[in-house]
Amino acid sequence: MRGREAIKSWNCEHEVTTVCSDLIRFPSENPPGDVAEIATYILEYLQRAGIPARQISSVPGMRSVIAELDFGPGPCLVLNGHMDVVPAGDRTRWSFDPFGGEVCEGHVLGRGASDMKGGLASLLVAIAQAARWDTLRGKVLFTAVPDEETGGWYGTRWLLEQGFTGDACLIAEPSGTNPTIGQKGALWLRAIARGIPAHGSLSPLVGENAILRMTQIIETVYSIWERTWIFPPEPHQLIAETQSTLREEGLGVQAEALDHVTVNVGRIVGGDKVNIVADHCEAEFDLRVPIGIPVGDVFGLLRQLVEERAGSGVEIAPVRDPIEANYTSPTHPFVQLVLRIIREVAGGTSRPVLQWASSDARFFRRHGIPTLQFGPAELQGIHGYDERVAVGQLVQAARVYALLIHDYLSPGDGGGFRAA
Ligand SMILES: [Zn+2]
Repeated sequence: MRGREAIKSWNCEHEVTTVCSDLIRFPSENPPGDVAEIATYILEYLQRAGIPARQISSVPGMRSVIAELDFGPGPCLVLNGHMDVVPAGDRTRWSFDPFGGEVCEGHVLGRGASDMKGGLASLLVAIAQAARWDTLRGKVLFTAVPDEETGGWYGTRWLLEQGFTGDACLIAEPSGTNPTIGQKGALWLRAIARGIPAHGSLSPLVGENAILRMTQIIETVYSIWERTWIFPPEPHQLIAETQSTLREEGLGVQAEALDHVTVNVGRIVGGDKVNIVADHCEAEFDLRVPIGIPVGDVFGLLRQLVEERAGSGVEIAPVRDPIEANYTSPTHPFVQLVLRIIREVAGGTSRPVLQWASSDARFFRRHGIPTLQFGPAELQGIHGYDERVAVGQLVQAARVYALLIHDYLSPGDGGGFRAA
């Protein structure tokens, strides 16, 4: 098979369905995040297709699979996907075996079908196809990574630090027909309140209660949700366009979250005994920060508000390194190229959108690589029960990936080569 028209009608249904089912049968739940078996399957699949591939580990148990299609001098396209999945949870809540990989009524069923073994399967068959072409110029770097569901530090981030980079990147994360070009930032905070212990029988006349003080802190941190922000022009427009797309899809809640700092207090511990005025209390917060707003601005404002309202004896600090919101411009030629291809394959209008959560894309963008996410998806089951993916979407995604490799690595033929 060669040429754009042939790729657009490429019949890969049997192969992509089989690979997706096979991938689902390796549980790879994270935690614990062991991907050894699925990584070996992917390695062998690539090798059977004649593609030089190998495994490397950042720390024991955290393997990545790396494969390179080298067509000589030219731009390098990175194709990335994660092998880990979130745990299946309570098996009795599933109406099928989450690790059975069953195919039923045009869908592949199981944990990871959409997030993102479907995307990995489509990438694999597209790359195996492209390995047979001989008119391309440049390189495809395929990376299958562990650890995405727990932060990506030992997968994508580590690989980039080892020099596995490129000129543009597509991650096969679930998206539907609208590719995702940006993610919100994340600020995880721990607040510690101290008090003065005393006999509970005399409270509130004596002592200072740290739990009571924490309730004020929680209220103060939640007040950040009410705040309206002033955005730079491009993020402003991008947020507004994503909001209208999400509302059309019935995702009004997600739309509302996009231009606000969301807040969740997820953990609280305090006091020693019911009849003692509590002298300590600790709580942890998860805040997600919109695109265009520096995380430092949000933290600075919060610290000031907490000091004003809760007074001394309170500490508030990040639990881990904050993540800045990040995106690739919708006008970037790589984004425009992918959009054109999706519209060609799937028909209809495809629009770049933002995501309310975070992903490995931030690591690529931090290395200056324009990055977007596009992959087969049925959004309802992701991270929940009865996850599945439509076979038609697997086929569509495989065609998009194959066309992207073709156009990006074809001098003078598509927009990709010039864009790089
Ligand atoms: Zn994912």
